[in-house]
Amino acid sequence: MNTNIFVLFKSLHLNLWAYLLILCYYLCEILLLVEIMKKEKIYDIVVVGAGIAGCCSAYFLKKKGLSVLLVDRSGVSSTGGSSAAGAFVSPKIGKGSQLQQLTNKAFEFAKDFYINNFPKYFYQTGIIRMPKDNSDAKKFIEYNKFNSSKKEWIDREELAKYNIKEDNRSFLFKEAGVCDAPNMCKNIIKDIEYRQYLVEKLIYKDDYWQLGKIKAKKVILSTGYENSLFDMRYMGVKGTWGSRGDYKSSLDLKVSMHKKISISANINGIIKVGATHVKSKEPCIICNGEPLKELETIASNMVNSKDFKLKETFCGMRSGSKDYFPLVGGVIDVPFMLKNYPKILKGAKPPIKKIDNLYICNGLGGRGFVFAPLMAKILANYIVDNIEIDSRVNPNRLFLKWCRKSSDLDRN
Ligand SMILES: Cc1cc2nc3c(=O)[nH]c(=O)nc-3n(C[C@H](O)[C@H](O)[C@H](O)COP(=O)(O)OP(=O)(O)OC[C@H]3O[C@@H](n4cnc5c(N)ncnc54)[C@H](O)[C@@H]3O)c2cc1C
Repeated sequence: MNTNIFVLFKSLHLNLWAYLLILCYYLCEILLLVEIMKKEKIYDIVVVGAGIAGCCSAYFLKKKGLSVLLVDRSGVSSTGGSSAAGAFVSPKIGKGSQLQQLTNKAFEFAKDFYINNFPKYFYQTGIIRMPKDNSDAKKFIEYNKFNSSKKEWIDREELAKYNIKEDNRSFLFKEAGVCDAPNMCKNIIKDIEYRQYLVEKLIYKDDYWQLGKIKAKKVILSTGYENSLFDMRYMGVKGTWGSRGDYKSSLDLKVSMHKKISISANINGIIKVGATHVKSKEPCIICNGEPLKELETIASNMVNSKDFKLKETFCGMRSGSKDYFPLVGGVIDVPFMLKNYPKILKGAKPPIKKIDNLYICNGLGGRGFVFAPLMAKILANYIVDNIEIDSRVNPNRLFLKWCRKSSDLDRN
């Protein structure tokens, strides 16, 4: 009996030690956690918006060795305009305008970027560019002189071999293609830290940006058509609503094409058809449940679409600038400029003051998957290596004119 009491006492004693040890362990864990929370990471860069612009910006800055956090109000990348994109990547045709030259430089860069880094999500189907009508066909002869991207003329017989109904001679851009938009975005950021977070306010304090509990030295805004965090009216960001569809089909289409609308090659039994264009401030345009009706009619004149069966509809907002060029660079401190230089409204040209460590990569319009890689590289070169931004995309270009002319401002 006595022995039993002794054993019981001994085991209780041992248990007490075990309990104490466990308690100590948890106390240490809690102290460690408090310590970690105190020293909360300060990122070199936080990119707001995980569309193709934000994903590429995060990618190129990470490549330069910076600590990068990508945040989006959505839990996954590519849910804004980028989710709707057919993501056709092709050159721009025309008579050599600045926008055409820039687009084609961006096309060359994007195509190489996707092929070299993410070949699984870029289908180099080639894209045939067809004249819209007979009078457009005459312009193609002139366009021929102004396009540095590799292309071939392709005539009616050859078009028919590709199962395309078209009488006019067209251009075939063999190097062009189509991205798998969501998987492309997802893979571009596979090594980037990502957090779901809706940015409602950005506060600059003690040389850091604070987004709630997140701290960063610099912030990039890639928020697409929504730009309410700062006064950026001078950039004139406008939304263009669009819809497109994925169709199941067995049609043998080896090449993608663009006329008034785009139709992709048949990739694993799916043909993409897009897209509509509606200028709009608000997303979701009333379409009586038939956003794709017009597209389907046009498509049926381009290819034999008899067996097309709609699998999924995508809708989203493109975000374009006032002059259709992208917006890449620092953000001007508009309230400061208007307060300190009121004569700016009458044409004065004072020195420009930017908001510290705040940048934008936006305004990619209907060609986000063409522009984003090059624009993101330009921004990363500027932020890290101080390489001047191409003046065609620097948002500064729009500021003085906006001050002189815009009806947004009170001129009395
Ligand atoms: C129907 C359609 C077809 C298209 N077809 C093509 C095509 O064939 N080829 C092509 O190159 N381009 C195409 N585009 C254009 C392309 O989709 C856009 O240029 C591109 O998606 C723009 O990307 P973005 O990253 O600038 O914006 P978005 O993709 O819109 O991304 C912005 C992101 O910011 C987030 N965000 C906004 N505000 C906040 C906030 N306060 N806090 C946190 N997150 C925020 C949003 O959730 C969103 O994810 C098409 C567009 C549409 C609509």
